[in-house]
Amino acid sequence: MAQVFSATTSMRTKEGQEETSTKRIILAGPTAPLPAERIMSIKPTKFTTEPLQLQCEWMECRFKTTVMQVYMEHVACHVPAVEVHMHDAQDIQVFLYCRWQDCPWKTDKKAEDLQRHLYLHAYHTKLKCIGVNTRSRSAVKSCKADPGNRNILPDLAENLVCAWDKCSQTFINIQSYYDHIKAHCDNNAKGKNVEGGIRCRWAGCSGSFANIVKLKDHMRSHTQEKLLACPTCGRTVF
Ligand SMILES: [Zn+2]
Ligand SMILES: [Zn+2]
Ligand SMILES: [Zn+2]
Ligand SMILES: [Zn+2]
Ligand SMILES: [Zn+2]
Repeated sequence: MAQVFSATTSMRTKEGQEETSTKRIILAGPTAPLPAERIMSIKPTKFTTEPLQLQCEWMECRFKTTVMQVYMEHVACHVPAVEVHMHDAQDIQVFLYCRWQDCPWKTDKKAEDLQRHLYLHAYHTKLKCIGVNTRSRSAVKSCKADPGNRNILPDLAENLVCAWDKCSQTFINIQSYYDHIKAHCDNNAKGKNVEGGIRCRWAGCSGSFANIVKLKDHMRSHTQEKLLACPTCGRTVF
């Protein structure tokens, strides 16, 4: 269950704003798992090329796994399975706080926003794992940037929408979104030099590519999918 506080707090006020006693603060704590159907909706993923040492950074939780699918399911379990009912909502503001290490994110909207945000942490953690691997393979100098910012993520206010052809499927889980788009790409003629080329069917795009690998690479310009992240400062690399 989420912990509900009505006292002042300085825990998550990185921007320096004060939480007054008129605000009710809901700290989203370790909670009951999500309903089965939500977990079932996460598509299986294979990461065969990069070994992943995925660790949860939610509060004191240090759950570890090497399997992205298991990791995503685990991370989603931290979303509070509680509905917030406000009877006297006039001057009370309710916030759901992300309790991921060094993440200042919060929402005054709904648990679904926190769930989407946590999937972004899962994806970002995967990128940082690939960053660790990449660093160990090459002579990259270690990063001197502030590690305190490593888990600050861009805001993802809406579910992601697939704009491939007439698909329009929506995703709360950014990794599932990327996997889904890769499946669209894989659903084309194989070969190094496909005759006539493979067309990109993303809305408004008329690009044509020699093969599936090149199409997938191009898709990243539509989806902003990143290759890796710096494990020290969290900065993503396109
Ligand atoms: Zn956890
Ligand atoms: Zn967060
Ligand atoms: Zn689609
Ligand atoms: Zn395109
Ligand atoms: Zn860095």
